[in-house]
Order: sequence, then C-alpha cells, then structure tokens
Amino acid sequence: MTTVTVWNEYRVEKEDEEAREVYPDGIHEAIADFLRDEGFDAQTATIDEPEHGLTDEVLDETGVLTWWGHEAHEEVEDEVVERVRQRVLEGMGLLVLHSGHFSKIFKRLMGTTCDLKWREEGEKERLWTVEPGHPIAEGIPESIEVPEAEMYGERFDVPAPDALVFTSWFEGGEVFRSGCCYRRGAGRIFYFRPGHETYPIYHQPEIQKVLANAVEWAEDIGSTPPSFGNAPKPPEGI
Ligand code: ZN
Repeated sequence: MTTVTVWNEYRVEKEDEEAREVYPDGIHEAIADFLRDEGFDAQTATIDEPEHGLTDEVLDETGVLTWWGHEAHEEVEDEVVERVRQRVLEGMGLLVLHSGHFSKIFKRLMGTTCDLKWREEGEKERLWTVEPGHPIAEGIPESIEVPEAEMYGERFDVPAPDALVFTSWFEGGEVFRSGCCYRRGAGRIFYFRPGHETYPIYHQPEIQKVLANAVEWAEDIGSTPPSFGNAPKPPEGI
C-alpha cells in the first residue's frame, strides 16, 4: 500500500475565518481523508512540527509526498528541502498543489521562477482534460467545472512538462497549464493547480479523483538505483 504524506503549511486555516470554515481541520486533513477513502495509507505533516514533520524516517517510508504551501515558503528549512529533493531523485513521487508553485522544493526541482499571473475574485474555472489517455485522467470527464476559483494565468514560468494533462480556462479569458507532469531522477512530479484555501475545491469528487490518480501514477516503484562513474569494459562484453 502506498504511503502518502500530505504536507501542509497549516497557517492560513488558523488565521483566516473563511478558510477555517471550508477546511476546519486544515487542508491536509481534508486531502488525507479522501485519500484514505481511496485506499491509501495517508499521514500528515505540517510546517510547525520539528523538521516540518519531514524527518528521514518519514521520507524513507513515503511513496508520494503532497505539498500545499502559501505564505510561509521561505520558512521551510533548506536542509529539509534538500532532503525532499534527494528522495524525489531516488524515486519518491511529489504532488505540488496550487500555491505550492512558489515552494522552495518546486522551484529547485524546476530550476525556473515558477511565477504566474493571479487574481482572487471567485471566478468560474473550466479544467479541460487535454490528455485523456494519461493515467491521471482515468475516469475524469472531458472537463471539470470549478464554480469559484482563484485565477492563475499564463505565463506560468516552468519548463515544458513531459505531459500536460489539464489546461484551465477562466471567466476573465486567461488560460493556464493546470496539470503538468515531470520526471526528475527516478521521481515523478505532478503540479496540479486547483485548490485555493477559501473555496471547497478539495471537497469536489472529480478533483479528489484526479489527486488519487496522481498518487497512483507518482508512486515510488523502488526502481534499481543507477550506477555512475568509470565503468571498465567487461572482458566478455555484456
Ligand atoms: Zn490561492
């Protein structure tokens, strides 16, 4: 069974009444709950725990890490970021959610600014499944309507994804690459845009299904570590 560690800053839900109403136990508990319903072994970790809850022991047993952060990206210790990066290179899956686009770990893994346009006016979003054959799109309709969303618009300053599974349209006319797949080392990374703290987006069944599919897709399959360095030619050939 895949062990998923659902990481959340867990600040805005304590400070903002609107966010607390939507996610009374925090975004991490909402995500962990539906992943458990989907049969995953989900645990949570938050920024204010020692080592942000991401000790070597926790990361070693984590098959997929999900990351939601918003206002405290800079408070995440570089040492922990490096530890997460190493685990991704070894094969741990990473799902970066919504405002996690500006997290240290995502920026480091992408190597770009990861900047974008945004506007918070509760606009309608239509999320189009542009790669219906992809495992993350399994059972997902041609489009998903999010009644109220924060707008994220292009340009999204990330490298071209290996696969683009979802593209969003917003009422204001902007578009956005909302479901981007990457591989770094042996690890699979999925960036998924929907999920602002004051809208009940993580309570939407289609969004939950996308995330469950993404966990399955990104799971650490324990691939054989590659060998590097000088390689003497075998006497008999290979
Ligand atoms: Zn937001």
